[in-house]
Amino acid sequence: MTHPLSDRINSLPISQTLAMAAKARELKEQGIDIISLSLGEPDFNTPGFIKDAAIEAINQDYNSYTPVDGYVELKQAICTKFKRDNDLIYKPNQIVVSTGAKQSIANIAQVLLNPGDEVLLPAPYWVSYSAIATLCEANFVEIPSSIDDDFKITPSQLEAAITTKTKMVFFNSPNNPSGSIYSEKEYRALANVLENYPQIYILSDEIYEHINYGVKPFSFAAIKSMYERTITVNGLAKAFAMTGWRIGYLGAPHWIAKACTKMQGQITSGTNCIAQRAAITAVLAPVEKVQYMVDEFKARRDIVLDLLGNIDGFKLNIPEGAFYVFPDISAFFGKTINGVRIENANDFSLFLLEKANVASVTGDAFGAPNCIRLSYAASELILREAIKRIKRALS
Ligand code: GLU
Repeated sequence: MTHPLSDRINSLPISQTLAMAAKARELKEQGIDIISLSLGEPDFNTPGFIKDAAIEAINQDYNSYTPVDGYVELKQAICTKFKRDNDLIYKPNQIVVSTGAKQSIANIAQVLLNPGDEVLLPAPYWVSYSAIATLCEANFVEIPSSIDDDFKITPSQLEAAITTKTKMVFFNSPNNPSGSIYSEKEYRALANVLENYPQIYILSDEIYEHINYGVKPFSFAAIKSMYERTITVNGLAKAFAMTGWRIGYLGAPHWIAKACTKMQGQITSGTNCIAQRAAITAVLAPVEKVQYMVDEFKARRDIVLDLLGNIDGFKLNIPEGAFYVFPDISAFFGKTINGVRIENANDFSLFLLEKANVASVTGDAFGAPNCIRLSYAASELILREAIKRIKRALS
């Protein structure tokens, strides 16, 4: 039976990261020993000093509706952070706090995109970008890259993708899923192209900013000519192990921030009061306080690269940030392994789930059909076991 759902929801693809995580959870509940490397979620606990701030907020009776765009103290703290880490000057009226960076991105798309507008997505890109554009009836245009280019696009590729309908481009560095980081020089070269197209707005998703292994990410809005048309998105989930607290934020020209506040005011209102009070402490904390997680992620990355590098058919590059590896596994296409025919990355990801009991996410969902994503936000023991299983299933 077909239910009378809207065309909008019927045309929306399901989030592949969340779907795979749900599938892994379901199989585990059935008693199957699944290792899930599907979801991008730190396996650390939220640091104690942030939890203490939340407990204090509860005891101080923070329980009422919050201002739609966030507590002013939090917005001030975010301005301090932008200045400290990114050399960006924002005033509190340019900041909007949301229920996760995902909502910040959805707000921006909703307030800037009209049906038929084009959104450029340098691929690989995070799964929800394309879906969020689709929800606005905009068309997304992928700009492909490959592992040989370190998954980065060039200025001439960007220029070639621009049409009279282009309204936005979404940048994400450090990148989910590839872990690549655009250098300041590379971003400036892309900005040189965009300078000729004043109608294009830039969404710079910097959620993995602090998870970098030595290359300090550069903020797109720090390029003077881009500041007035760049929206900088960030959040607490990844660097502070606060995925479930749902705190994201954006810095933008005031007119865009104001429109996002209007949108949010009709959909969710201000985000959770306790999480916001704790966020003030997190945002103002010296970055060194969470460096132990980054160090651990780096050690795991090196182990994963080393072990996967020993499996024939896995082509790898060195991710400079985030906590994913994104191997090109197209060498397996057209082969039958362990009785299973592999034609594409979806087949390969399914093969890993069924024959190795390891959950990954197909590169297809990220606009990179030759790859799969494995998250190494898991303990060394689990990672070693997962790769042992993958190797066994493939041999
Ligand atoms: N951003 C994370 C990921 O890519 C969390 C899941 C999601 O919201 O997509 O796995």
